[in-house]
Amino acid sequence: MTDIRIGGKTAGEWEAEFPLLQELISTREVLWLNSRYEAFESGNKQMSINESDIRDAEERLRRFARYIRKAFPETERSEGIIESRVVPIPSMKQALEAMADQTMDGRFLLKCDSHLPISGSIKARGGIYEVLKHAEDLLLQHRLLTVNDDYSVLARDYFRNFFARYSISVGSTGNLGLSIGIISAKLGFQVTVHMSSDAKQWKKDLLRSKGARVVEHSSDYSAAVEQGRRQAESDPDCYFIDDENSRHLFLGYSVAALRLQKQLEDLNITVDEDHPLFVYLPCGVGGGPGGVAFGLKWVYGNHVHCFFAEPTHSPCMLLGMMTGLHDNVSVQDFGIDNVTEADGLAVGRPSGFVGRTIEPFLSGIYTVNDDNLHQLLRGMADTENIRLEPSALAGVYGPIQLLTAPAGKQYLNRHALEDKLKNATHLAWATGGGMVPEVIMDEYYRKGLELSL
Ligand SMILES: *Cc1c(COP(=O)(O)O)cnc(C)c1O
Repeated sequence: MTDIRIGGKTAGEWEAEFPLLQELISTREVLWLNSRYEAFESGNKQMSINESDIRDAEERLRRFARYIRKAFPETERSEGIIESRVVPIPSMKQALEAMADQTMDGRFLLKCDSHLPISGSIKARGGIYEVLKHAEDLLLQHRLLTVNDDYSVLARDYFRNFFARYSISVGSTGNLGLSIGIISAKLGFQVTVHMSSDAKQWKKDLLRSKGARVVEHSSDYSAAVEQGRRQAESDPDCYFIDDENSRHLFLGYSVAALRLQKQLEDLNITVDEDHPLFVYLPCGVGGGPGGVAFGLKWVYGNHVHCFFAEPTHSPCMLLGMMTGLHDNVSVQDFGIDNVTEADGLAVGRPSGFVGRTIEPFLSGIYTVNDDNLHQLLRGMADTENIRLEPSALAGVYGPIQLLTAPAGKQYLNRHALEDKLKNATHLAWATGGGMVPEVIMDEYYRKGLELSL
């Protein structure tokens, strides 16, 4: 192990440079602060993505709203806009305070992407967006539609037959596959989902019932993505959705920030210099939390503080950003096994595109162990009657880390936030759970219950 080089250095050399690495390797919970974090200035960045791209994505989703409404009647009430609620979780806040033996000033909110229509996870943002974008590109290219048309016509057989000539492929631990599979099959595309070994059986069954082809792999997420990529390379009519590098996925996620801004206004919640907003986002390969965080920085600038959350056994983004190696490093390179019950987060190698894009914007990343995820899962069900999958609880742990870890206190001090905490809003992004079958959810719950006895 000692003489194997990772990005030009031995593991020992990396550990000497980043003492936190030892704790990471021994899978202890940590909070890492991003040393490349900068004050937000929209003007002076040579960014490859900017606010007009986010607005463009938002408009595209609006163009498709009439189709979505027609194709998915559960979006009737939101008029074809796929959005989730933001809810205060005061009882969970008390439970968290008891769990950490720490008082928590300010408000605690939950963003319920777990209950997004159509696919019940944050992937109903990016995943669906990218398929719609691809569908629109094809239609415009073949002059079958203009952007001023009523897109509800896409539900007609004529268009389904058109899309049937094309295919879509994706690699996934589960939820991205669900999103892509459901929307692609609904439009009429032939869709193949390459599933990693940790993908749950019920997700495969559900996808097949919707008409998607599911290919099961005995390897992990990165290998499943690779298979999807290879399938598309050999077929010009096959479009590959690249979870590791996609700008479209990223933009689909980022639209959430514009929607959240409106929702907080409706709740009379102020975010400004004296009212900081802390957002905690579960992170797998990075696209979901990265896109949302990126959008939030455009909306709130320095008043929002974004933290990612990863399982102690899959801290890929932390490793990639801390070392600066991004996608040139995997958790396995450092002997970390990438085994976690939080299957949406079971990713060993981060997106380099996301890591580099959010480098100046992200405040930090913390890790949380599976036992705590299960206990929080049980707590959320008991106190708020909200059922989430284990991955989604990673964000809920955020305030504990920020308020109790030495690095958290350092962050608050450095940014002069201590006196503002009583006016603060803490928002945990609940990324999934809405489609988990009840028997599986009961198992998660029981596990949490056993752990807290
Ligand atoms: C995919 C997913 C995430 C993280 O999104 P990435 O884009 O992989 O970082 C978090 N939670 C759940 C439930 C997910 O399915």
